[in-house]
Amino acid sequence: MKLQGQIALVTGGSRGIGRATALAFAAEGADIAFCHLNDAAKADDTAAEIRALGRRAMHRSVDVSDIAAGRAFADAVAASFGPIDILFNNAGMNIRKPFEAYTESDFDSILGVHLKGMFFMAQAVYPAMVARGRGCIINVASQRGIKGAPNSAVYSAAKAGIAGFTRALAWEATPKGIRVNAIAPGPIDTDLTATMESADRQAFIDALPIGRFGRPEEIAATALLLAGPDGGFYVGATLSPNGGDVMY
Ligand code: NAD
Repeated sequence: MKLQGQIALVTGGSRGIGRATALAFAAEGADIAFCHLNDAAKADDTAAEIRALGRRAMHRSVDVSDIAAGRAFADAVAASFGPIDILFNNAGMNIRKPFEAYTESDFDSILGVHLKGMFFMAQAVYPAMVARGRGCIINVASQRGIKGAPNSAVYSAAKAGIAGFTRALAWEATPKGIRVNAIAPGPIDTDLTATMESADRQAFIDALPIGRFGRPEEIAATALLLAGPDGGFYVGATLSPNGGDVMY
């Protein structure tokens, strides 16, 4: 059990990459608190799966772009479960449009969930981690923050920002005993990519060296590496399991 007795807070844990990571952490002994956005039925299913693994689970609908709500959730988790050891900063969405069609409202909502949400969720758990001299923060970026993509200008900007934020925080946090890293997944089969046009999806697959989209569990495996004892020397890194979409 690589995470025995640890407490993990997962944002966007009801489905997709967050759900798979919550289950992977629970299978290694962690109790899981997760938030989602108005996704109660899937959240209940995920919580039931965590409990079936013998771990505690709690969830709440919390919009991570609401800083006060995110802080209140982190406080509630610590009060119910104990101090948070791991933050898996994962909640996300996208609005796909050509560059010229983006509105200020689109910009604010995408940046709000990704960059502002991840920044302030990290800030919500950080003081208690500093006080204990231990902790792990994993931010979910994207290969789109590295190579870009059409119809995703705001998302790509947010994801590049997350990788930069990860490196900056790693400089401050590491001497305090807190490891901070990011994951930049390639295309993964989740609700987020299910809305792609089938021709676009096939073109994407045809261009991928591995010839398929990834599974959420393939990202959870990287999250487990970073969260557990085997990831102890990763600092400020952005690991990118991406099927060869970006090689660097
Ligand atoms: P998903 O749509 O399956 O799940 C998204 C989760 O985030 C859900 O639990 C949803 O309720 C939650 N969420 C959305 N907006 C929220 C908000 N404002 N506050 C709180 N929770 C919110 O998506 P996914 O594919 O599992 O994506 C998870 C993360 O991985 C995102 O950050 C996404 O950008 C990133 N990512 C996904 C892919 C991919 O191909 N699926 C690739 C690279 C990066």
